[in-house]
Amino acid sequence: MKAGVGKLLKKRFLYQFPGKSLKNPIRINKDIINVTGATMSVQYMCAGVRKVLAVIDSYYLSGRRSGDTISRANAPAALSVKEEPVSETNISQNVKARTADIQKSTKQDKKQNDNREGQSSEVKIIKQTRMIMGTFAEVSVYSKDEKTAGQAVEGALDEMERMDRIMSNYKQDSELSQMNKYAAKSPVHCQGELLDVIERSHYYSELSGGAFDITVSPLVTLWGFFQGKGHVPTDKEIEKVLPAVSYKNIVINKNTGTKKVNTVFFKNTQTQIDLGAIGKGYAVDKALEIVKKFGLENACINLGGNIYVLGTPHDKTAWKIGVQHPRNKGEILGYLELRDEATATSGDYERFFEMNGKRYSHIINPLTGRPVAGTIATTIVAPTGTEVDALSTSLFVLGHEKGLELIKKIPNVHAMIIYEGNDGKIIIEMTKGFADKFKKSPVKGEDNVKWHVVASHKQ
Ligand code: ADP
Ligand code: MG
Repeated sequence: MKAGVGKLLKKRFLYQFPGKSLKNPIRINKDIINVTGATMSVQYMCAGVRKVLAVIDSYYLSGRRSGDTISRANAPAALSVKEEPVSETNISQNVKARTADIQKSTKQDKKQNDNREGQSSEVKIIKQTRMIMGTFAEVSVYSKDEKTAGQAVEGALDEMERMDRIMSNYKQDSELSQMNKYAAKSPVHCQGELLDVIERSHYYSELSGGAFDITVSPLVTLWGFFQGKGHVPTDKEIEKVLPAVSYKNIVINKNTGTKKVNTVFFKNTQTQIDLGAIGKGYAVDKALEIVKKFGLENACINLGGNIYVLGTPHDKTAWKIGVQHPRNKGEILGYLELRDEATATSGDYERFFEMNGKRYSHIINPLTGRPVAGTIATTIVAPTGTEVDALSTSLFVLGHEKGLELIKKIPNVHAMIIYEGNDGKIIIEMTKGFADKFKKSPVKGEDNVKWHVVASHKQ
C-alpha cells in the first residue's frame, strides 16, 4: 500500500488534480473510488495470501530468519499461472475498503436503531464489498436515506450472487453447469437470464465475426486457465478441440413442443459454454436494475473492474474511474469521468502464464485456438455493463485495426486499446469519444509509450 500511496503523492501525479497538494494528496477510495482493470481472481489473491503465510511460516515461525528459505530458487519448478499479478496496492485498497465498510455498517446499524426512518439531512455514501464470481464486487450508493440505500446495496450484491449461481462453471449445480453436462445429449430447457445472456453472446459473436465466442471453454481448459495451471498444448491437441469451438454449435429453439418451452442444444459433443467474458457485465446490469428499483439515482456498481456509474457522486459532476496501467503495478494511466455509463477492461496482466519468456493471456482467439498475442489491454465505455464486458474481450481479440473499425461503427461506444508496437514501444490508441472522457496521468517510462487519438464512430 505504501508504494502505491507514494506514487500518488508525487507532484507530477497531483498536477492532474486541481486543489490537491503533497499535504492534501489524492485519496484512493475518495478522489478515485473505482479502478477498471483486468479482473483480479480469487485464485491469485489466494496465491498472494499463501505466499504471505509461507513467509511467516518459514521466516518467522520456524525460528530461522534466513531469506534463503523463501528464495526463488526454491520455488516449485512446475509451471503455474503467474502467481503475483495482483498489485499490493489493489489488495490493500480492497481489504481497507472492506474494513471500512464493516466499520461503517456497524455505525450504520446503530444509526438506524437511533433513527427509525433511517433518514438524515446529510447525503452519505453507503458502500459494501463482497467476493462474487471470483473477484471483488462493490456497490456504493449516495443517499440521505441510509436505510433504503443499505437495502439497495444488499439487494444489488444479492442479485450479482444470484447471477453467479446461474452462470458459474465452477459451481456444479449452476444452471450453466447443468446445461454443459446435458446439452450435447439432448435439448435442455433454458429460460430467464441464462437464455438471455446466451442470446446476447450470440449477437456479439456475429458482430465480432467470431472473435467473441462463449464456446471457447474447451480451449480455456486445454490451455490450463480453468484449472489455474498454465499448459502449452500441441498443435494436434488444439486441432482436436477446435471443431467444438463455435457459437454456431449452440442451437436455441424457442417455444418448442406442446409446453412451448425454450431449449438449448449443442451440436458438437465437446461443446461447452464459458460466460467469463460477459457474465460480470451482465450481472452489473442486473444489479443496476435493483438499485434503480429502490429509487436511487447516484450509485456505482463494480464487479471486478466491470463498472456502471449511475448519476454522479454527491456534489460532483462525474464519477472518476481510474484506468489501471497494464505494466506498472498500482499505477493508473489516467481516469475516466463518467455518468450513467459503463466501463470494463480486458487485459493480459492479471490472468496469464509465462513459458520460455512468452506471455500467454487468458483471452483466446476462438478461430486459431491460441491465446491472443500483441494486445495488452482494452477498455470500453458504453451504455451497459453487458456491452462493455463483451466488447472489451472482442476488441482484445480483434486487435487495434479491425477492433477499432468495429467500435467506430457502434454509436455511444468508446474504446482504448493498448498494444505492443513493432519497435517495442507500448502504443495506446483511443477513439475521440474516449479521449473526451479521459484525463491522462503522467506515467513512469513515458518515453516508451505512444499515445494516439483516432476519430470516433462514423455518423
Ligand atoms: P476478465 O475475465 O479479465 O474480465 P474478459 O472479460 O475479457 O476478462 O473475459 C476473459 C474470460 O472469458 C476468459 O477467462 C475466458 O473464460 C473467456 N474467454 C477467453 N477468450 C474468449 C473469447 N475469445 N470470447 C469469449 N470468451 C472468452
Ligand atoms: Mg469481457
